Amino acid sequence: MSKSQKELTVQRGRGTMAVDKGIYCTGCGACERACPVGCIEMAVDSEGFSFPRIDKTTCIDCGKCEKACPLNNNTLQRSKNAYCYTAKTSSILSTSASGGAFSSIARAFVSDGGAVIAVSDDVQKGSSFELVSTGEELSSFAGSKYYQCDLKSSDFVKIESALKQGVCVLFCGTPCQVLAVKNAVPKRLQHGLYLIDIICQGVPSRTSIDAYRREVEKRKGSKLLQHVFRAKVKGEEGHYVSRLSFADGDRCDQVGGDNLFTRAFMYQVSLRESCYQCPFARQERAGDLTLGDYWSESLEEGYVRGSTSLILENTKKGAELLGQLGSLGRIQKVPLEAATADNIPLHHPVSRPFARSFFYPLMRKIGFMRASKLCCWRYSLKHAVRRCVGSRG
Ligand SMILES: Cc1cc2nc3c(=O)[nH]c(=O)nc-3n(C[C@H](O)[C@H](O)[C@H](O)COP(=O)(O)OP(=O)(O)OC[C@H]3O[C@@H](n4cnc5c(N)ncnc54)[C@H](O)[C@@H]3O)c2cc1C
Ligand code: SF4
Ligand code: SF4
Ligand code: SF4
Repeated sequence: MSKSQKELTVQRGRGTMAVDKGIYCTGCGACERACPVGCIEMAVDSEGFSFPRIDKTTCIDCGKCEKACPLNNNTLQRSKNAYCYTAKTSSILSTSASGGAFSSIARAFVSDGGAVIAVSDDVQKGSSFELVSTGEELSSFAGSKYYQCDLKSSDFVKIESALKQGVCVLFCGTPCQVLAVKNAVPKRLQHGLYLIDIICQGVPSRTSIDAYRREVEKRKGSKLLQHVFRAKVKGEEGHYVSRLSFADGDRCDQVGGDNLFTRAFMYQVSLRESCYQCPFARQERAGDLTLGDYWSESLEEGYVRGSTSLILENTKKGAELLGQLGSLGRIQKVPLEAATADNIPLHHPVSRPFARSFFYPLMRKIGFMRASKLCCWRYSLKHAVRRCVGSRG
């Protein structure tokens, strides 16, 4: 082989070990964190989802990104026990998506000297993972934010440096993010790491929530101060009520699909492509605990539909976290199979509707709200018929 042929072979080989998962990529950021030469950068695509962009000219073909990727490397555990939970403190219950299991566990964890890293949301700046170590700072974590919050390289650094200082860390995120954290933290530090995954049907993009919120402000002529995805409203228990609060003092509550962001989420037209093929939508779980909604029809006395969390205990560390809960809420063991039977992402990924192909191109052309109405036309039709029948009756 001549010298120039050898050079060509080396050049062809460059970057062949670099991670490239296409539509299966969850955007978890583990590969960016793992790259020793910094040739991976997370870049936002035209729909507003982050994907790794690899500079193959500087890639040294070490394969560390492939090893860190949860799609190749994941340890999952089958749940041992299931519980239903509702927090006793009304401030926790009223701000949480379901029964406030996350906030209660986080509270117990920080009062035991640990630090918690979870998602907080700002209607102007968007969501971010924050690491906190006091009870007062936990309030911004309460409530589910139904869109993708990017896990950045700096977040992995924060987790690792807290663990290095001997502080126990509790991380809560989607299953793909939990696995990314698990793969990123060196084995020697893992004993202090506690993981909670949420049951996850999928995530819309950051660009989509921004587009929705800016349209809301334009229509209202006032700045949006707060957007709660699941406000607790009397008489609407068991429904997703979106609450929008404005700078002019007005507040608007919209039930279920009446809110156009929730409608697109519920009809699954705005989710990341990877979510329709999610390998973590199954009974084997990523975290020490799994949290979700307890929708079972047979609720014991004292538990309210829509205000009850489902907790799955998957590991010994999970049992330890539950042991710390003390008297913060009401917890009751429930039959595992019955409690998980109807929760789709515990069995398989949600299906991809045909309208998914059009949602983001339409959003860019005609705006979020009109795209949501068009792509969720079944809901819009039902809604129009209901209104028509209502006005005649
Ligand atoms: C995108 C998404 C989809 C979901 N789909 C389902 C489902 O199909 N079935 C089901 O039973 N439950 C689902 N959940 C979980 C559900 O909304 C509640 O989180 C769960 O019932 C626990 O409620 P809680 O009151 O204990 O905690 P909450 O107060 O809701 O928990 C808050 C914590 O959850 C985590 N979290 C919130 N938003 C995000 C986000 N965007 N990305 C990563 N982590 C986040 C954070 O760490 C946050 O601080 C979903 C949650 C999200 C964010
Ligand atoms: S981790 Fe290694 S193989 Fe992956 S992109 Fe970086 S240098 Fe290349
Ligand atoms: S799934 Fe995560 S680790 Fe794998 S390629 Fe995508 S961002 Fe990188
Ligand atoms: S559905 Fe799967 S891929 Fe999508 S955000 Fe949830 S865990 Fe990640």
